[in-house]
Order: sequence, then C-alpha cells, then structure tokens
Amino acid sequence: MVGISEDILQYERLLERLYSRLPSKSPGQPIELPQLEVVHVGLHTQIKNFKEVCDRIRREPRVVMRYLLKELAARGSLDESNNLIIFGRISSQTLNALFNRFLMTYVKCSTCNSFDTVLKKLGKVWIISCLACGAETPVKPV
Ligand SMILES: [Zn+2]
Repeated sequence: MVGISEDILQYERLLERLYSRLPSKSPGQPIELPQLEVVHVGLHTQIKNFKEVCDRIRREPRVVMRYLLKELAARGSLDESNNLIIFGRISSQTLNALFNRFLMTYVKCSTCNSFDTVLKKLGKVWIISCLACGAETPVKPV
C-alpha cells in the first residue's frame, strides 16, 4: 500500500514539474506595450526610442512616422539612427495616445488580440498577419 501512494506522489510531482515548465502566458496575451520617449529640443520634438519601439512591434519606422505626422498634421523626419524628429512641440501624452491608436489599428490582431503580428504590403492592400493565430486582417494603408 505504501508503495502505491508513493508512486502517486511521484507522479503528481512529475506533473507539477511538467506544468511549471509550460509558459504561463496564454497565447494572445498582449506584449508589454512600448511607450515613446519624448523630449523637446527648442521647437522640435524628438522620440528617442523610436527605432527601438518600431523594431519591437515589427513595423517600418517610415510607416509609423507617416501615420503620426498625418494625424498630427505636422512635418518631421527620421534622423540618421531612424529616430523621429517632429518639427513642432507635441506633448508626450498626445504622441503616446496617437501611437496607441496605431498599435490598435495596425499592430493588434483583431482575431486573437495578439500584438505579435507583421504587416504585409500587397500594393494598395495592407494586411496584418498574426504570428500567434495566423489570421490575416486587411487594413487601410497609411
Ligand atoms: Zn491573431
């Protein structure tokens, strides 16, 4: 009898070990959303971590820039390290709110809510292709 219960205990321990090794994050859980680091230099607004953030969400800096500038009706450009400079003073709050909107529209998978997606451009048709669930969602080009 003692032998059997020990077997069960061992089996339970084994299961526990197995489960603890499974990733605790369920699929479709949003990645920690990046925030833009905004600094003001004179009349310009710089986003210090622009390239890093774009890399993280797998979007071309040019696409994100075009979206932000269009929404702000501002002009700007990418510097030599692909960080964004906006000609005008835009608050960090405004920029991050806009950037959040970009994430919701051009990064988030509408099927499983994952932010683990890539943007495919097929001419005038843009598609968000989800790396988590495989769904493909067409979006309006920026
Ligand atoms: Zn998905």
